[in-house]
Amino acid sequence: MWDQAHETMPRERLRALQLERLRAVAAHACERIPFYRQAFQRKGMAPQDIRSLEDLRHLPFTVKTDLRDHYPFGLFAVPLSQVVRTHASSGTTGKPIVVGYTRRDLETWTEVIARTLGMGDVGPDDIVHNAYGYGLFTGGLGFHQGAERIGCTVIPMSGGFTERQILVLQDFGSTVLCCTPSYALNLAEEIQHAGIDPKTLKLRIGFFGAEPWSEQMRREIEARLDLVALDLYGLTEIIGPGVSSECRERRGLHIFEDHFLVEIVDPVTLEPLPPGQRGELVFTTLTKEATPVIRYRTRDISVLRDDPCPCGRTLTRMEKITGRSDDMLIIRGVNVFPSQIESLLVGVPECEPHYVLVVRREGALDALEVVVEAKPEVAARGGAALEAAAQKVRQKVHGVVGITVGVKVVPPKTLERSIGKAKRVIDERPKT
Ligand code: ADP
Ligand code: ZN
Repeated sequence: MWDQAHETMPRERLRALQLERLRAVAAHACERIPFYRQAFQRKGMAPQDIRSLEDLRHLPFTVKTDLRDHYPFGLFAVPLSQVVRTHASSGTTGKPIVVGYTRRDLETWTEVIARTLGMGDVGPDDIVHNAYGYGLFTGGLGFHQGAERIGCTVIPMSGGFTERQILVLQDFGSTVLCCTPSYALNLAEEIQHAGIDPKTLKLRIGFFGAEPWSEQMRREIEARLDLVALDLYGLTEIIGPGVSSECRERRGLHIFEDHFLVEIVDPVTLEPLPPGQRGELVFTTLTKEATPVIRYRTRDISVLRDDPCPCGRTLTRMEKITGRSDDMLIIRGVNVFPSQIESLLVGVPECEPHYVLVVRREGALDALEVVVEAKPEVAARGGAALEAAAQKVRQKVHGVVGITVGVKVVPPKTLERSIGKAKRVIDERPKT
């Protein structure tokens, strides 16, 4: 464990620390950011009214459009002279939002990434192959700092140039792989294509996050790369990667609660929900100086679990993200997340786990088409084999999700490969 004192802190003490920090961050935000001052006023709340963690529910929410409306620096709580770095969200769902880091914020971030890597017992002898994108995206530099802090040998690969990545994996003997799960799969495919046996590589563990991925995808990546795959979660608005991570038990992602206060709320009523109930994740930063955020609605859907973890950490866990509410499709009244379809596709032996979902408008209804690649040997058998595979997928989706979808099974390497976050949904519906 990288930071045993915080990761195993008795809950009582942790809650006291959280309360103290919540009061401080609320005061900081209201004092320095007009947006928060007004939002608190509208709620009839002042930072000194926060007497217990239960009072959190009386504080205003922050949503993505609030950050966009104040683009680029309008929600900074310190002058730019104290900001030593900026990053921006990858803009998966629109115009990017910008965040800032003071020196202390970078320190916090470095520590939570070191803790994340500590979940996989990463140490100074490890060679960390960091294929998260370097740049405005938080993944690359975030992992870089954390791995350096531990004293690992860091290879700042960034994304793309897959052939060169494979050369480095072989020649440098990388032991730890950091990238998106879709890129891990892409790498695995190219490694196989090059005729390299993954067992000859030294990879032992991978830290995969930044996008939703199913348990079935995890098994696929583990088998193809011969490593243990851990899930980690984060978002630019809160700090970047390093908000939560799985330990080796892999029974949910431990949230670094001394820095990030978590709630799950009902996305419709916005009422906080108890552990065990699925809803939208909401985070309050407890220590951020440059861009503190209060009750940020992530749109990510998960469940909190507070049963003790055998690893000994006392930090609450969130279950693997089902998807983001922005990505939720409503097909003939049924709510569908791309990850549900993914978990079915990965189990079809005729198909490769490369897919996209195309949504179209047919009359008044939304229709979904699943486009998935065939295994080379299936494609080699010709059109009838592809159609038979498509029929199988159609039945599976109907049987499990309960909806009728169009399915197209296409030859291998038809779909674009991602180097960062995969684009799983192509929305061809008319813009309203
Ligand atoms: P963008 O919203 O533009 O993608 P970010 O790069 O900040 O911006 O990405 C954060 C988002 O990525 C999260 O809100 C979440 O939807 C997704 N994400 C990050 N890590 C995971 C993960 N481990 N599982 C599922 N989704 C994740
Ligand atoms: Zn644990």
